[in-house]
Amino acid sequence: MNHNLYLQFYPHFERQPNKVLMDTLNGKRYRYSDVLATSRKMASTLLELGVSPGDRVAVQVDKSPEIVMLYLACLQVGAVYLPLNTAYTDSEIAYFLEDAEPHVYVCRPEVLQHARAIASGVAHVESLGTNADGSLMEKVDKASETEQVCEVSADDLAAILYTSGTTGRSKGAMLSHQNLASNSQALSEAWHYSEHDHLIHALPIFHTHGLFVACNITLINGASMTFLPKLDVDELLDLMPHASVLMGVPTFYTRLLASPRLNRDVVANMRLFISGSAPLLAETHEAFEARTGHAILERYGMTETNMNTSNPYNGKRRPGTVGKPLPGVEVRIADRESGAALAQGETGMVELRGPNIFQGYWRMPEKTNAEFRDDGFFITGDLGLVDDQGYLNIVGRDKDLVISGGYNVYPKEIEQLIDDLPGVMESAVIGVPHSDLGEGVVAVVVPSASDAVSEAQVLAALKDQVARYKQPKRVFFADALPRNVMGKVQKNQLRDTYVDTFK
Ligand code: ATP
Ligand code: MG
Repeated sequence: MNHNLYLQFYPHFERQPNKVLMDTLNGKRYRYSDVLATSRKMASTLLELGVSPGDRVAVQVDKSPEIVMLYLACLQVGAVYLPLNTAYTDSEIAYFLEDAEPHVYVCRPEVLQHARAIASGVAHVESLGTNADGSLMEKVDKASETEQVCEVSADDLAAILYTSGTTGRSKGAMLSHQNLASNSQALSEAWHYSEHDHLIHALPIFHTHGLFVACNITLINGASMTFLPKLDVDELLDLMPHASVLMGVPTFYTRLLASPRLNRDVVANMRLFISGSAPLLAETHEAFEARTGHAILERYGMTETNMNTSNPYNGKRRPGTVGKPLPGVEVRIADRESGAALAQGETGMVELRGPNIFQGYWRMPEKTNAEFRDDGFFITGDLGLVDDQGYLNIVGRDKDLVISGGYNVYPKEIEQLIDDLPGVMESAVIGVPHSDLGEGVVAVVVPSASDAVSEAQVLAALKDQVARYKQPKRVFFADALPRNVMGKVQKNQLRDTYVDTFK
């Protein structure tokens, strides 16, 4: 049997050639038949460039519908699609190309010459622009269509996706055809997805959220989507009357809430608002529901695993939780060190097993070994607990756990209390070296206006609320928290900034 993910999408191309699969703000419309024809030409172009099954095709280009066609072409010929964050600099790209050894590297047209110099070890460097332009498209225009679909096994790689690099250097997660196929089926079922859905796609497509969750679920259902280059609140609101689903990171929702245009009327046609990639504050969830009548559906996933848990489609979507395991996915909470399963309600390491879990880190066998238990559970590095109703609560990352004087301090608990104080916009709690305690608790607070709140006020407010070992020893103020492109707070940067606090 051929396990190629492409075959899960293909029937919709046959069935509804005239349906528009993707459209863009500049009025371009791509029917299923257009996408099929171009992706088949791209597949022959890749074959002409000498791409063999298992070869990597690395891609760092600005978002466009043609990227989806390139992704489809890679699947079709059995190549491993390897998207790279558009924000990566030359030296980062050089590292990833050396690490991944792609056969083809596709870059932006404006940097083609430069990229050829950086990618000197790569057999073919081509370019792809946002106007269906670039050297790759010139070749594609001349190519003939190939219908051949490479035969692959369930465990053959479909993609390598680098993690977001929130906690350190990005790692290449190897994802098989079955990993991706099983997850899009599980999500379709969980979210009642169908061909009638129209998605507002405003996420980057080099990341698991925008690429696999968003595009795969659209393709596997024969649905459609509007591609936006980036988050623009007015554009989202303009599109909502013509769409049914929005997928966003929490920032989407805080920005939407800041718009006076967000109300019940504008969302009247929408079926589902989904959030993930970073924690959605319970207050954002509540404010959004009060304004629109929609409870945002929060789910939890990671590059290595695709999506793992989701709040229910029918049933209570509980603010501050990431819901229950998706069909086929096992979640357990284990002791951080021993790996022994913990009782319901206890906080520990979130561990996962299922057909969605990746094949390992690219060329890091030791790291891969270290992240799996003997019984096949993957150690996520996230800490959490399962509450009495079976919903998973993510408490934070293991690397962000503060151990002060031998006691565990879960930053989220303290951050929630600080965030509730008047004059506070948001906060991050970290641990930094302390000669006596091992780590000392430090809070970094973004005030709603300068001087809106003082260190003494924060400390006084926490005094009677939490045990002394959990209380910050120092509070610092910042204009903003350092975030990466996915909107994740980079606590390692904060730890570097405040490393000398107790020295
Ligand atoms: P790196 O592994 O390189 O440090 P990263 O973990 O941020 O980066 P991703 O794979 O993009 O890279 O992100 C997965 C992580 O995002 C999860 O492990 C979890 O910590 C966090 N995350 C995703 N969804 C949620 C959510 N709904 N609530 C809380 N955290 C979430
Ligand atoms: Mg990670």
